[in-house]
Amino acid sequence: MSQTDEVILRGLPISKGIGIGTPVFFSSVDDEVPEIPISKKEIDKEIERYRRALHLSRQDVESLQKMSLHEGPPEIVAILGTHLEMLQDPLMTTVMEEKIRDLQLNTESIFQHVIEDYKQRFTTLQDHYFQERVRDLIDVSRRILGHLRPLDRVKMTEIPHSSVILAHELVPSETIEASGTHVSAFVTAAGGITSHAAIIARAKGIPYVANVEIKILKRIELQSMVVDGSQGIVIINPNRKTLKKYQEIKRGLLESYRLISSASHLKGETVDGYEVRIFANLENPKEIDLLLKNGASGIGLFRSEYLFLSKRVFPTEEEQFHIYRRMVKSLKGRPLVIRVFDIGGDKKIDLLPTSPDAWYFHSIGAEQNPALGCRAIRFLLRYPDLLDRQIRAILRASAFGEVHILVPMVSDVSELRVVREKVEKIREELTKKGIKVAQHIPIGCMIEVPSSAIMCDAIIQESDFLSIGTNDLVQYVLAADRSNPNISDLYFSTHPSILRLIRMVVASANKNRKPVIICGESAADPAMIPILLGLGIRDFSVAARHIPLVKHTIRKWRILEACRLAEAALEYTAAADLKNFLTAETSR
Ligand code: PEP
Ligand code: MG
Repeated sequence: MSQTDEVILRGLPISKGIGIGTPVFFSSVDDEVPEIPISKKEIDKEIERYRRALHLSRQDVESLQKMSLHEGPPEIVAILGTHLEMLQDPLMTTVMEEKIRDLQLNTESIFQHVIEDYKQRFTTLQDHYFQERVRDLIDVSRRILGHLRPLDRVKMTEIPHSSVILAHELVPSETIEASGTHVSAFVTAAGGITSHAAIIARAKGIPYVANVEIKILKRIELQSMVVDGSQGIVIINPNRKTLKKYQEIKRGLLESYRLISSASHLKGETVDGYEVRIFANLENPKEIDLLLKNGASGIGLFRSEYLFLSKRVFPTEEEQFHIYRRMVKSLKGRPLVIRVFDIGGDKKIDLLPTSPDAWYFHSIGAEQNPALGCRAIRFLLRYPDLLDRQIRAILRASAFGEVHILVPMVSDVSELRVVREKVEKIREELTKKGIKVAQHIPIGCMIEVPSSAIMCDAIIQESDFLSIGTNDLVQYVLAADRSNPNISDLYFSTHPSILRLIRMVVASANKNRKPVIICGESAADPAMIPILLGLGIRDFSVAARHIPLVKHTIRKWRILEACRLAEAALEYTAAADLKNFLTAETSR
């Protein structure tokens, strides 16, 4: 086989569409660094570069510590003290310098070996103290590596036109920066169907295939690549015939998207005239134009955490207020549902060390099981000043249009109560100061944790509306990580248990005459839409780009047919049988 022969790989289809372009390896600070020999003459310069990285890291930690002394919890001051000690440890100073002299290799590669060695020696020790020190060491070494390789981190915004991004894993903060003209497709080793990076790729219409061995690709001469995100196929160095075939498929797909989009001004209603409202899920306030163009009824889910995921600086109350106010004004009377920060899980927070709020995030540390850890409302209740700041900004914006508050990852009704009390308290404070706040700000509960689905009849008494987040609900009900491609075959959005839970939640909401909306990725799945209609859902929230397809699907069904389909689906007990049934019954 010649180096440029066509090679076909199969992976997990994540985001539909065809991407054709030039492969680019996208690395993050955690990836392996190459070993580059240096000459004797370069040694002093190399040591100087290393000392500077140490110096900058020390400055970061010192300024962080200074800030934490005033407002942070005492543990964090102690942790940062340990980090400062580590930066002066002989391992980081003399040992490293000796190794650079002896081995004559680039600093990054030596540094990584030294740290790896140390980690291996200590991670085998069960002692809690040593485990903590390893965690500190990883933290400190990331900081030093970040300063050693500031220019090595290619940014998504700096990728050449028509690139196919190859990476071990994509994080949401990077994916959000990708533009469709620069990035033709994503191919990664890790990543699940409803991981946040996957959601963003689909929202932007960028084809994506995961579960592909990226390391192997480093050994092949890569000239061009075709990525078929619908079938999960990656073709390396396609020949002329293959290329032509995929260019035609791509043209066809674009044409059908254009056709469906041209009807997006039509109402969201079933064949027999039932009105269905379609709202938008939004990560980037700049996308408001697209959702208005696609005839959205409003914003059903603003993932507010994206305000700082890529900027890496936490927004102040004033900054948030201006953003929310601008958003609600441009919606011209349509509602804006702001979900309070859903921090944690696969949305790793990596604030700039100089950011005044960085200590909050440091204090969580590395969790063994972040999806089950200090995420969303749990995090906000631990650090209430962040939540207060956000609520104040939301309340101030509520004077300019219809604003709702949505609480993520509620696992107990008491979490909702605390938010409601805070809203009332902050409302009083603002009113006393003469600041205008809307009369009524509905507070909704995300139903995405099994306990809240099971307790929905109690939760609905204390919520103004419910929002079913199937991405997490499926992950937690089926104990199947939404970001892990190895168990994607166990992550069934159409599992019988999920249908039963949705039926329960809708029944509770209807009984109490309160609205219920569905905002997980299932809401945009043409195989799930008729089932959801049949289960009683009338409000959908999907990425702005998917609104035309959702409308198009809804406009093909009668409610009676959808109810019969849902009834038949509820008879199934095995996930695979139900999936086959739905595929056969919904492909119109
Ligand atoms: C969900 O879990 O379904 C949801 C909409 O929230 P996110 O995807 O942001 O976790
Ligand atoms: Mg969720």
